[in-house]
Amino acid sequence: MNAQYAVVGNPIAHSRSPDIHSMFAQQEKSNIHYTKLCAPLDGFQQTVSQFFAQGGMGLNITVPFKQEAYLFADSLTERAKESGAVNTLKKQHDGTILGDTTDGEGFIKDLIINQNTTINQKTILILGAGGAVASILAPIIAHNPKSITLVNRTINRAQKLAERFNTINKKHIEISSYEEIKQHPYDLIINGTSSSLQENYLPIPNTIFNTNTFAYDLFYSAKMTPFLEFAQKNGAIHTADGLGMLVEQAAESYFLWRNFQPQTRIVIDTIRQQLQ
Ligand code: NDP
Repeated sequence: MNAQYAVVGNPIAHSRSPDIHSMFAQQEKSNIHYTKLCAPLDGFQQTVSQFFAQGGMGLNITVPFKQEAYLFADSLTERAKESGAVNTLKKQHDGTILGDTTDGEGFIKDLIINQNTTINQKTILILGAGGAVASILAPIIAHNPKSITLVNRTINRAQKLAERFNTINKKHIEISSYEEIKQHPYDLIINGTSSSLQENYLPIPNTIFNTNTFAYDLFYSAKMTPFLEFAQKNGAIHTADGLGMLVEQAAESYFLWRNFQPQTRIVIDTIRQQLQ
């Protein structure tokens, strides 16, 4: 029987993960079986236990189960412990389940390798304080930015996240409400909210962009996201959506499961074409 993998979420119909992983398997010249699992909102543990009991080797975890996956894992990688979320589960040789998060590494690889930009000594504005932002904060800090400002609609969520990272990483993260965002251009502005999913425009001033600003939306879609549209309209020349991050985080998961590092460029280009 082919090795069994799946992505678990709710909803899950939209997921591109099976297409991405089947391209990775072609590169490895191996036959894997990768499916989508829609777990009931109150049935994550049962769905996942059953999958592994029936011989499953690895899972990707998506909205809204990343915190539950963190609790489900028997052991955690350091980066998963740091972010408080798990997007990858792996059955180990002794039968125990390892939890990891590959979102942060996926983001960094896309930004630095695919987008050919840097973080070192940059001023960074991050919008949102949910699971995705928690996963990208540690690797951003590790790349030595000049400053990080965290903005969230629910301010105490941003405060809690910043406090946790300020303690762990000894890097001061500044907190701001949308109304109080400092009206000067930032080098890198990351939209880590789900506002683009809802096709909403964020209440951000247009003065935070200039021609040197790199605007990155973790969300991706066939057409330009509202955040990136606003960024371009206000001067940002360099922009990217989260498709590259999606493929890069999947490649990191694939490596964790199978010790094979897939080529990502061709996969990003193929999925981009399929979105059209
Ligand atoms: P969460 O639900 O954990 O967090 C959502 C965040 O968005 C919160 O900060 C929330 O603020 C904010 N938010 C939601 N709606 C609005 C709005 N209308 N205006 C302002 N803020 C809003 O989600 P995730 O962190 O898991 O995901 C965030 C985004 O990142 C999604 O678009 C997701 O698709 C994308 N993502 C992309 C990945 C990739 O590989 N490309 C991987 C993971 C995520 P509040 O706290 O106030 O509710």
